Amino acid sequence: MPVPEKQNKSILTIAGSDPSGGAGIQADLKTFTTLGIYGCAAITCLTAQNSLGVKSYLPVAPSFVKEQIDLVLEDMQPDHIKIGMVGTGDIAVAISESLDKFEGVVVYDPVLKASSGHSLFESGDSTALVKSVIEKTTILTPNIKELQALTRLECNNDERIARAAQYLLDTFPNLAGVVVTGGHFEEESDAITDFLFLRDIGDQVIRETAIHPRIKSTNTHGTGCTFASAFASYHLLTGSYEKAFYKGVAFLEDLIKKSSSISIGKGNGPLIHHLFTHT
Ligand code: PLP
Repeated sequence: MPVPEKQNKSILTIAGSDPSGGAGIQADLKTFTTLGIYGCAAITCLTAQNSLGVKSYLPVAPSFVKEQIDLVLEDMQPDHIKIGMVGTGDIAVAISESLDKFEGVVVYDPVLKASSGHSLFESGDSTALVKSVIEKTTILTPNIKELQALTRLECNNDERIARAAQYLLDTFPNLAGVVVTGGHFEEESDAITDFLFLRDIGDQVIRETAIHPRIKSTNTHGTGCTFASAFASYHLLTGSYEKAFYKGVAFLEDLIKKSSSISIGKGNGPLIHHLFTHT
């Protein structure tokens, strides 16, 4: 029987599960669906959490993480991969081995800690432990705290952020770019600055900057996961990292605005993905 032609664009997320539905694979799949992309999901860790915070997490056996990814890659042939919470160094190695067979774009959101403060990575040298995944990544999407943790460089102004991003681009020649999200920085300020540092011809780095008003909301659980998934989706839809960056920023802004008055849970609520308005 002839194999039917591939009809839909698809992305595989490799991330942790958040039973409250706000972050992790749940946020990733909602983002893909909202943007018209078929989502697959391989789970790295189960977390026990709600809107009040993360209580604990249980890593999946690395060989089983690998088995999930390999079966999906073989059969579904996703166009892009998005990676979120990895959880342990051994899981990082398992993911990295599976990615050997993948030739598409890999967007990695290097989740190390929940915004409530609970660690989402085993203790130890997280930079060394996630190195094997960064080596297979096309676009890395740290927030400022993650950028600081990964580079051990102070990132308290635009030039220092640029220097840290440059350090990552120099250290990992496989990276096409680094997106730095500023939402968790200077949380009292009225504006947020996000950056895209993109490797250009001759190893020049282009800097794109998106400055947008900070929307007052406590419903921001899972914004990092949602942004990285929106970035991966828009790149798949447009083929452009610049468009993916600006459209991803606008997607998040719209969702934070729409979700700010809706309370789900007693703590920091989630984004309500289906409220997004396509323009
Ligand atoms: N839980 C899981 C499974 C995640 O992947 C993430 C991602 O960042 C978080 C929690 C953290 O979400 P937040 O920083 O919004 O607390």
